[in-house]
Amino acid sequence: MELVPFSSPAEIYIINTCAVTARAGAQSRQLIRRALRANPEARLIVTGCYAQIAAQEILEIADSPICIVGNSCKHRLVEVALAERHCDLEMHLGDLAGHKEICPLTVTSFGERTRAYLKVQDGCNSFCSYCIVPYARGRSRSLAPDRVVAQAEIFAGQGYKEQVLTGIHLGHYGQDLTPRSNLRELLALLLARNLPVRYRLSSLEPTEITDELLTLMAGSPAVMPYLHIPLQSGDDRILQRMNRRYPAATFATVVEQIVARLPDVAIGVDVLVGFPGEDEGAFRNTHSLIESLPVSYLHVFPYSRRPGTPAAGMADQVPKADKEERVALLRDLDHKKRTAFHRKHLGSIRQILVEGRKQGCLLRGYTGNYIPVSFEGDNALVNQLVTVRLEELTDDGVLGRVV
Ligand code: SF4
Repeated sequence: MELVPFSSPAEIYIINTCAVTARAGAQSRQLIRRALRANPEARLIVTGCYAQIAAQEILEIADSPICIVGNSCKHRLVEVALAERHCDLEMHLGDLAGHKEICPLTVTSFGERTRAYLKVQDGCNSFCSYCIVPYARGRSRSLAPDRVVAQAEIFAGQGYKEQVLTGIHLGHYGQDLTPRSNLRELLALLLARNLPVRYRLSSLEPTEITDELLTLMAGSPAVMPYLHIPLQSGDDRILQRMNRRYPAATFATVVEQIVARLPDVAIGVDVLVGFPGEDEGAFRNTHSLIESLPVSYLHVFPYSRRPGTPAAGMADQVPKADKEERVALLRDLDHKKRTAFHRKHLGSIRQILVEGRKQGCLLRGYTGNYIPVSFEGDNALVNQLVTVRLEELTDDGVLGRVV
């Protein structure tokens, strides 16, 4: 087999689709059409979340057969791609809701990336009212600790110096395992292996950041002082309509506790703007809550209707212009928060994992607390941990100097 760019005609296409918004679904359909135009004779295999929830719509795109491989069957992609016989939809879509195991797919490489993503959990039981993920990924399930360690060792052996523990609902890690486990125990197990790796946690729900986890993070230099937490709204009425299970005050308390335990921590926050029923007052609550908290940056998403979710049918949808205005206000707040966080760390000395060159000039990488830093240096420093003093603010991060 030879891997070719998507723009070149191929004999086999594997299209990994996304369903997180209606637009992502439309883009997935476009890609399928593009592949069919490039080579109508090709074997076309469509997988991922959009394939899982909209198999029938995909099959109707073309007269020629399209093979659908559901999320729980992704580990069989190669076998399906090379099979003599054509696809049997029932066989390859799988019974996702009844699936109790994470897809057993060992990953050996992330191409050119310097960070490896170690998926330890899949699925979600929370059913937030705007979210399609539980329907596309099934119930929460975890990778057994020994398999997580084996995967971490593979990545470390390949030279990955940073590994990000990921999941759809990472804070639920271990709840389905026998014996039960949790994220803190998993991290402790990984740390005990003493791999030459720094670990980063991906998104964690506010109510799942436990005291025990913070204690472990505070005492382990190999765990980066970084937490990304979805807030979504700072208004209790909207949080309830979203089926989020915490009031805004709890989020504030959690953030204060984190900063008290991890003074250098970067805290990133997801915000969903313009959810149905969000009036000016509700938006102000969100804005002022974030403004008052020591968070480092925001990811701001305008709400869009995702067909198949309860929120898509809710009354009081927010007009587009209002959403755009609120998104702009929060992006402005994001800029202020980022700049303040970067400024606070000027003069400090940090370890940067060098990812490559920025537009062909300076080396670029991230501190443990996720500050993007550019500095002069040799190509040999790429994928190395380099000690750098943070000296000057730039438009998109900080300028540093190797110490
Ligand atoms: S917790 Fe996250 S993945 Fe689960 S339903 Fe809510 S937003 Fe979706």
